[in-house]
Amino acid sequence: MGVKWIATPKRTKEILETYNFSFKKSLGQNFIIDTNILINIIQKADIDKRAGAIEIGPGIGALTEQLAIHADKVIAYEIDQRLLPVLDNTLAAYNNIHVIHQDILEANVIDMIGDHFTPDQPIHVVANLPYYITTPILMKLLREDLPVADFTVMIQKEVAERIAAKPNSKSYGSLSIAMQYYTRTEVVMNVPKSVFRPPPKVDSSVLKLTRRDSAPVQVADEDYFFAIVQACFAQRRKTLRNNLIRHFKSLIDKQTISNALQDAGIDETRRGESLTMQEFAALANAFYQITERDG
Ligand code: SAM
Repeated sequence: MGVKWIATPKRTKEILETYNFSFKKSLGQNFIIDTNILINIIQKADIDKRAGAIEIGPGIGALTEQLAIHADKVIAYEIDQRLLPVLDNTLAAYNNIHVIHQDILEANVIDMIGDHFTPDQPIHVVANLPYYITTPILMKLLREDLPVADFTVMIQKEVAERIAAKPNSKSYGSLSIAMQYYTRTEVVMNVPKSVFRPPPKVDSSVLKLTRRDSAPVQVADEDYFFAIVQACFAQRRKTLRNNLIRHFKSLIDKQTISNALQDAGIDETRRGESLTMQEFAALANAFYQITERDG
């Protein structure tokens, strides 16, 4: 039975040869040839027959096919026009898949959800993402506040570790805070290079991001909060005070910066990598007040 699936070495080779397909590195094209890995991903994503699935980058349809079998409906965004006739053919047996030829970064996903899914349907994003735009894709989908329960995505291992990192670790940074502000993060699987065609240069992991019901911290202004976090990590080996002096330049004087850190209860000689999200929120709120006050 296994051989009929797209995600097998034999079938993938046949499809690629039939269409004389050449991989575009610039589009992050690394296709999966192991059906067990895909079924594992689908289980981690809690897909069942009620589920609506959104996929980014179906490629030749390996994951799309398994999603169609396990979910109610699949919407897949593919940027590469050359793959459209391939997908028409490889997925012809399934009537619950709709492929949209579009750059996901340009897509109006909220309208698509309204058009294709029912309001009571649990919606999951499941994808083997093009690695060159992992962060922009995730940030776009998270900031748009979509009715999506969770995101289960194959990404570069090192990026997965950064997103899920805890304070005081090497991988912890502004990306960890940005993602953990919107979601609970968990690395659910490491995946060997050998299950891709062509094998990528980097290691891969599957990351599950589960949307939070409410923000884990109260911040006066989200953009301001993220800007402060970024500033605190600008030069990792520098203290908070020095990074903040650099960030505010002449807008806020050094003494006021020291006072604000003290008011937020944070030692100014600490480094960004030691702060919890709660501490970053206290810090950002303290500086926001000063910025508002001093115009
Ligand atoms: N899902 C397939 C699999 O697992 O075998 C292919 C995954 S491959 C890592 C990434 C896919 O994303 C490719 O098909 C690529 O053409 C597509 N892609 C790249 N950039 C995209 C974008 N901006 N919007 C939509 N799809 C994109």
